[in-house]
Amino acid sequence: MSNPSKLGPHAGPSTRLLHTGYDPSEFFGFVNPPSVHASTVLFPDTATMRRRDQKYIYGLRGTPTTDALERALDDLEGSHGTILVPSGLAAISFPLLAFLGSGDHCLVVDSVYGPTRLFCDTLLTRMGIETEYFDPAVGAGLKDLMRANTRVVFLEAPGSNTFEMLDVAEMAGIARAGGAVSMIDNTWATPLFFRPLDHGVDLSIHALTKYPGGHSDVMMGSVSANRETFDRLRDAQMQIGVNVSPDDTYLVLRGLKTMALRLKAHEAAALELAQWMETRSEVARVLHPALPSFPGHDLWKRQFTGASGLFSIVLDGGGPRAAAAFLDALRIFGLGYSWGGFESLALEVGLSDRVVAKAPLEGPVIRLQIGLEDVADLRADLEGGFAALAAL
Ligand SMILES: *Cc1c(COP(=O)(O)O)cnc(C)c1O
Repeated sequence: MSNPSKLGPHAGPSTRLLHTGYDPSEFFGFVNPPSVHASTVLFPDTATMRRRDQKYIYGLRGTPTTDALERALDDLEGSHGTILVPSGLAAISFPLLAFLGSGDHCLVVDSVYGPTRLFCDTLLTRMGIETEYFDPAVGAGLKDLMRANTRVVFLEAPGSNTFEMLDVAEMAGIARAGGAVSMIDNTWATPLFFRPLDHGVDLSIHALTKYPGGHSDVMMGSVSANRETFDRLRDAQMQIGVNVSPDDTYLVLRGLKTMALRLKAHEAAALELAQWMETRSEVARVLHPALPSFPGHDLWKRQFTGASGLFSIVLDGGGPRAAAAFLDALRIFGLGYSWGGFESLALEVGLSDRVVAKAPLEGPVIRLQIGLEDVADLRADLEGGFAALAAL
């Protein structure tokens, strides 16, 4: 819930990350919160127990450790309350379950994270909820897709793997006017580069697994909600009965301390490599919102304050064989899922599940997560990939 932060509203992002969420005087002055392992919490007497009149009641309902992370995220997102769940994907499925029911209609951007689509197309379909995917370029046309039973508009900006941008405030406004709750997967930007609730979105979703954790050693998700939506979200979490482990929470709190610093490095290195990629004849297009050549660049510039370290390239021709030759030649970039950790990663993107926003046609799409290695080494590694293409 709302953060009793000693920081004024104008403290900078690095200062906030270091001093928000937890007050050392709450725990003997230690600068970090304790990792509280808990199920039972004792009450002093029956009267207190009957009224449930104390701060902590039961492990599932929260501890000083989970409170510290929830409050830090509230401060960063400008939210009324935050819930923590065991993965980024759970941070998507929980709010959808909380706000949708049988007979409802849900609008989802077609450039959404693949597993979000899978959740909608399987579990939500079985529950009698209809999902309709819309073109990320729909703009004000979203209004025409709203129906009387549209309860949720689900956004992601930029889009997964292809980075399509949205006018978030416009879409949140259309959702609100139509009586629907708006949600956005804000994982790419982190709250340091975009604060969706300031743009009228009701719920902001994060895979804390990515930059907040930052070290590829923890999985967690969060949903930060405004005043109107938080109670229903928390109720759903408690009705289902899921919370997060204290040690994992502690790792994310630790990761947050360096997130601003890390993001600056990811941002600068990714931009440098993206600009270099634009000069390569093997690359048809670079999909990175901070490049002026990118179609969504103006939308990005108007709404976001930075770019993180994840972008894609479209190879100029070739098929799966070219993609494999490029990827298998890489020595520093690892082949692996997820991103936001310290290490550089690459993979071939599959876009066959898109229904409206079709995949680029020029050649295979390769997604790059730019880690914290020396940029010259990463460039040399990618040059090795291009050499393998030339040798085909
Ligand atoms: C990785 C990712 C998720 C899911 O996070 P997990 O913690 O891996 O479940 C959700 N949304 C986006 C945009 C992601 O990239």
